[in-house]
Amino acid sequence: MTSTKQQDILRLVFKLIFYFSVVFVFCFVVLLVVGKLGTVGYVVGGLVIIAMLSISFFLYKKIDSQLAVTISQTNYTEDSAFTSLYDRSPVAYLTIKTSGEVIGGNPASVKLFRGTTDSINEVNFYNLIPIDSEVEPSILKSKVDAGVTINDIETPLQTFDGEIIWVLLSVYKHGSYEERLVSLVDVTEQKHIDTAKSEFVALATHQLRTPISAIRWNVELLRNDMKDSQTEKQTRYLTKIERNVIRMINLINDFLSVSKLEMGTFATKDEDIVLSDFFSSIVDEFIEKINEKNITINRSESSSSLTIRADSRLFHIIVSNLVSNAVKYLNPGGNLNLSFELKGDQLELVVADNGIGIPEPEVEKLFIKFYRASNAQAHQTEGTGLGLYIVKQSVERLGGVIRVETAEDKGARFIVNIPAQVVSN
Ligand code: ATP
Ligand code: MG
Repeated sequence: MTSTKQQDILRLVFKLIFYFSVVFVFCFVVLLVVGKLGTVGYVVGGLVIIAMLSISFFLYKKIDSQLAVTISQTNYTEDSAFTSLYDRSPVAYLTIKTSGEVIGGNPASVKLFRGTTDSINEVNFYNLIPIDSEVEPSILKSKVDAGVTINDIETPLQTFDGEIIWVLLSVYKHGSYEERLVSLVDVTEQKHIDTAKSEFVALATHQLRTPISAIRWNVELLRNDMKDSQTEKQTRYLTKIERNVIRMINLINDFLSVSKLEMGTFATKDEDIVLSDFFSSIVDEFIEKINEKNITINRSESSSSLTIRADSRLFHIIVSNLVSNAVKYLNPGGNLNLSFELKGDQLELVVADNGIGIPEPEVEKLFIKFYRASNAQAHQTEGTGLGLYIVKQSVERLGGVIRVETAEDKGARFIVNIPAQVVSN
């Protein structure tokens, strides 16, 4: 008989005896009160009550012990299922203390780190993160200490034979108060493929730059040469060629920036940037389109002489892409607001417009490579969806953050906060 069936029967018998006892005691007391019980009645009644109490007590104990067995069996089954998963999983798991001390690892972790069970148990987890890694061990430790769940952070780790591997790191609370379960998904191969892809794009785009620049200069020469004899049709063709060549150059530059930022080879060079002049030069880049669409520019600057020291190419990527988007997604006669302000040691840049905005469900995808919102595709067919991705990469390269406030048909407000090294204010 299964233990649950046994328990059900025991419970039923217990209930029957309990109800019978209640009825019996009631009758006994009534007979006692009306004085209908003789000496034999007292003795027999008393004995029956004692017997029923004993049986009830016995049954209660039995049910209790059966329940304890079932609970411990369930715990055992859960524990053994966990142990079996832990041991057989292809994903590496480490059990660590919040201090980083490794107290156990599954066979996959031993394989991942190319060590032995003993060597794994001797390390401090935080020491496996290489010194120059973007993941700061002290920040990671403070999160682990606080019991925050960490999900899929891409991080490099050092193996026992000194090689660097890439993993998706997750940390969960597990076991006792100061124990954590660390899962490590090996993505070294994907990382190598990504790097190879970025290297290829960097190389290909770099090589494409020279012939395309040559086309551009030659079209310009041709236009100059034919200045006096050009027919209307020829002028139209040349303009079209020029426009597309410029588009291609911009695309190539974007691809090149993306691959360099992704590979971490975007060489930065700090120089003084007078922000007011810098914003003016970017507005100038788009002046034709701004005039054509009759866009009003409003500028608000905390100081016209605010000068900071930063990489001007990254700054240019950020502001020019945001302004380009605002101009592109504004309706004729719209407003474009540009502002910068020093907030403590942070510089806040805001590029805001009252254009088509972004539908709420799509906002979180905006910074993904090649993503274009549905209304933008309907409004303006040209665009690759790379701009905001490069902007985000550049902002992060400068140690800052970017966010957007928007509503469809109301406009978009992009806010960038970057740690600033102020030269003069
Ligand atoms: P490109 O790569 O040529 O810049 P794009 O402008 O479409 O193309 P992103 O700059 O990456 O791409 O912008 C991504 C998407 O975000 C856009 O397609 C658009 O849907 C939305 N978006 C960005 N800026 C604005 C804005 N100011 N107003 C409304 N939508 C915007
Ligand atoms: Mg864009």
